[in-house]
Amino acid sequence: MEKKQQIVMSGIRPTGFLHLGNYFGALRNYVKMQEEYECYFMVADLHSLTTHPDTKELKQNVHRVLAENIASGIDPDKAALYCQSHVHETSELYLYLNMLAYKGELEKTTTFKDKVRQQPDNVNAGLLTYPVLQAADIILHRATFVPVGKDQEQHLEMARNFANRFNHRYGDVFPEPFAFNYGSELIKVPSLDGTGKMSKSENQNATLYLADEDEVIRKKVMKAKTDAGPTAPYSQKPDYIENLFLLMKLVSAADVIAKYENDYNTCVIRYGDMKKQLGEDMVKFISPIREKVNGILKDEKYLKEVMEKGAEKARKSAKATMELVRQAMGLKYL
Ligand code: ADP
Repeated sequence: MEKKQQIVMSGIRPTGFLHLGNYFGALRNYVKMQEEYECYFMVADLHSLTTHPDTKELKQNVHRVLAENIASGIDPDKAALYCQSHVHETSELYLYLNMLAYKGELEKTTTFKDKVRQQPDNVNAGLLTYPVLQAADIILHRATFVPVGKDQEQHLEMARNFANRFNHRYGDVFPEPFAFNYGSELIKVPSLDGTGKMSKSENQNATLYLADEDEVIRKKVMKAKTDAGPTAPYSQKPDYIENLFLLMKLVSAADVIAKYENDYNTCVIRYGDMKKQLGEDMVKFISPIREKVNGILKDEKYLKEVMEKGAEKARKSAKATMELVRQAMGLKYL
């Protein structure tokens, strides 16, 4: 199939095991998009330094994220799958964009405020300028579609602002990037305990990881919060029950979901049975990915080849953009 003109870019930080949120918010879209567009998918190792300055486990984590991308269906021959630190042009563009980003707007970013609360002893400048680096990652390839989960909406708005500000000051180089999902809305996969979202580093007992063993998956699902059930037909679902249905919609068959919806609406639902079913469907979904990841991780030579091939493609695109950037900025004196 002839690929369309639009360019796609996205990344995942190597800060731990990937989970269902990463899969349904990001990876699932990546896999579809690689068939249709020119795609750049990156392991965001530089971003991880803002919250995980200790690099002892970084290499291992980078390998894992790469393997989890591939096991989820990314084909390194179709998409450029690369490591952020292998493309030095990113850092140069980050520097230029930093001159166009204002302290006030960065301090107002929700993720920055969250991180300040989470790590009060390490409020580093990189944390403040995280959205600038992310904008650099994206517009470095002049991407327009960015497959991400709902938590990234604000960062994408900032990326558009930085791109527009650059264009306004120095001349049109960058198209506007937008968050992308094949469905109509961006996705947020909730955690199993009904509070917040699944995440690599928080809420670990309420997050389903692609690396979880079958028994762990079943146990986590069985522990999900429920109650005595609805007392009136067609009642509104409490958040934690709504979340269970949402998770079921991600992995279970349509007739299974319809049965439990009907049971809920007629007040005969048995949450124990529903969670057992959800646990089994999650196992069926996650276990083949987990086994593939384990196989890929054993082949370091292959992972190195993937990274080299990806970096080469990404550098080519980055170099072309940076020529335009330096030209537009008047940084060419020779
Ligand atoms: P995490 O927040 O788990 O550390 P990252 O910040 O590396 O994950 O994000 C990688 C991608 O996964 C982003 O596109 C992000 O929007 C998406 N993502 C992360 N958590 C979720 C979630 N619970 N639901 C939907 N998408 C998510």
